[in-house]
Amino acid sequence: THFGYREVPVAEKQRLVGKVFSSVAAEYDRMNDLMSAGLHRWWKRHFVATSGARPGQRVLDLAGGTGDISALLGERVGDAGLVVLGDINAQMIGVGRDRLLDRGVFANIRFAQLNAEALPFPDGSFDLVTMAFGLRNVTDKPAALREMQRVLRPGGKALVLEFSKLRAEPLKPLYDLYSFKVLPWLGQRVAGDADSYRYLAESIRKHPDQETLAQMMRDAGLHQVAYRNLSAGIVAIHSGLRL
Ligand code: SAM
Repeated sequence: THFGYREVPVAEKQRLVGKVFSSVAAEYDRMNDLMSAGLHRWWKRHFVATSGARPGQRVLDLAGGTGDISALLGERVGDAGLVVLGDINAQMIGVGRDRLLDRGVFANIRFAQLNAEALPFPDGSFDLVTMAFGLRNVTDKPAALREMQRVLRPGGKALVLEFSKLRAEPLKPLYDLYSFKVLPWLGQRVAGDADSYRYLAESIRKHPDQETLAQMMRDAGLHQVAYRNLSAGIVAIHSGLRL
C-alpha cells in the first residue's frame, strides 16, 4: 500500500471460491508436470536462481498465478524485501494466497489483482519485474512490456520466461507430434478436455520467437536486451534493463 497498489480483500466468499478452485489448480499442476515431464519446475527454479534478485529488493511477479515464482522470489528477497504477486484473475490469486500460506512463505508477499497492460503502480516502483508463462496470454503484449519498463527503477531488470521456438531442427517433427497429437490426447485422458490443450499448443506456436520478442522488448524501451534458451528453445528467458 505504501506504493499505491490495491490489496485484494480476502473476503470469506473469496476464500470459499479459492477452496473450490484449489482442486482445479491441483489438477493444473499435475497437468503441468505431466505435459512438461516435470521440466516446468526446473525452468522456474532456474529462472529465479538466475534472476539476480537480492535480499531487500522489491519485485513484481506479473501473471503470478498460483505463486510458484513468487514463492521462490520471496526466499531470495528475504524479510527486508517484498514480492508483489500480480494477476488478473482473482481466483488464481486466491489459490496462490492459500498455497503460500500453507508453505509458510507469506510474510514478504503481497497480492494485487491487476491487468499487466495497465499497472496500478507509479514509475520506478520495483527493482525487478518478472513474468513467467504469462505474456503469451496477454492481448496487448507491447503495452505489457512498456508497463514492465515503466514501473522499474533506473537500472532495474525485466525478465520474461515463456515458451519460444525450438532451435534443434532434428527434434522439430517430434516436438510437433507431441504438441498437436500427444498433448491434446493427454488433455483428453487426464482432464477430459482436448480443446484446451489444442489451444495451448496453438498459442505456443503463435507466440513470438526469440528474436521477435527481443525486438519487442527494445521497442518497449528496454536496454541490453538478451535471451537464453532452455531445453533447446522450448522455453527462453528474455531480459532487459531500464536505463
Ligand atoms: N506465473 C505462474 C506460473 O508460472 O506458474 C502462472 C502462469 S499461468 C499459465 C498464466 C497466468 O496469467 C494466469 O494466472 C492468468 O490469470 C494470468 N494472466 C493472463 N492475462 C493476464 C493479464 N493481462 N494481466 C495479468 N495476468 C494475466
